[in-house]
Amino acid sequence: MQYRPEKILVEERALEYRFCKKILQQYRHIQPQIIRDSDKPEEQLGDELTLTQGKRILYLKEFRGTAFKLCPGFSDDVLCCNYFVIDLIENCPLECSYCILQAFLNNPLITFHVNVESIVREMRELIETYPERPLRIGTGEHSDSLVLDHVFQVNPYLIEAFAGLKNATLELKTKTDFIAPLKGLKHNSRTVVSWSLNPEQIIRSNELKTASLENRLRAASELVCEGYKVGFHFDPLIHYPGWQEGYRQTIEKLFSVVSPDRIAWISMGTLRYIPKLKQIAEERFPKTAIFANEFIPAGDGKMRYIKPIRREMMTLVSQWIKEKAPEVPLYLCMEPRHTWSKLNLPCPSSPLNFEEYLSINTT
Ligand code: SF4
Repeated sequence: MQYRPEKILVEERALEYRFCKKILQQYRHIQPQIIRDSDKPEEQLGDELTLTQGKRILYLKEFRGTAFKLCPGFSDDVLCCNYFVIDLIENCPLECSYCILQAFLNNPLITFHVNVESIVREMRELIETYPERPLRIGTGEHSDSLVLDHVFQVNPYLIEAFAGLKNATLELKTKTDFIAPLKGLKHNSRTVVSWSLNPEQIIRSNELKTASLENRLRAASELVCEGYKVGFHFDPLIHYPGWQEGYRQTIEKLFSVVSPDRIAWISMGTLRYIPKLKQIAEERFPKTAIFANEFIPAGDGKMRYIKPIRREMMTLVSQWIKEKAPEVPLYLCMEPRHTWSKLNLPCPSSPLNFEEYLSINTT
């Protein structure tokens, strides 16, 4: 079901922006509450809001500062995928039990940075500074990239902006099937739409309000018909009784619907979380069983499955993927180099290598 805000807060200085005006016009039956620049929105709402209450409220504001963040994970030990993020949306109306945002966001509102045009201008200047370098840029770091587009209408604008860029690829990551706004656009193969995949049993129990596996794959195949490349993320891989059968069947279903030559990349990573997430998630999702496994703190402070579980899951899932799609770049997120080697994955030696590795399949 599509998200509808119950209340709208607008920062005073955001009122002048085109994206803000469009949203207020669309929801003109809701009287917006204006927030002065010096005020904190959550204080204006009185009682402390729970995360669930906060998600019903839309907060439109101007982003001040640099709207790009680069994952800082590339080091001698750990490989990160050298990914830029455009910080447009914070928080998400979907309800994944393991969602890191529950332990991470400063306020529980659904926040949209309405100065999209200036953010895109800034991004374009950065991209033009590196004309020879293939860059991947995503919007799905602090929200789902598609779930709110009927409200913000920002993806068509981004897709058409990226269509004119030679060396940058926009990635829109989702667990929905809300692809209607992406159809009929001139994307010039500069946008990859990607889906996070899990077995249907995990989707039903731990990814509440998201699309079923079948609907995610149907949406992917429809966008392939629109000429888009698509991507898939087996992340987080979740250990549960019957996981082998669950992931094997999920991979079978994926390749029965989408041809490998239309897949730009696939990533993989086992469940990891910062320690304070467990209590928050178990209070919000009392039926979830995913934190009942044995976890140990890793060097980055996150809790991870014990090594034999991680190794077995990544070995089998990567093997099943490579059997079906040996040519598709498969990468790991924030894993040490020796894990790449053990899985026989080509281990990029630098951020530039990483970008080249992932850019081979984008057009
Ligand atoms: S889709 Fe992503 S951002 Fe949204 S609740 Fe799930 S994990 Fe969090």
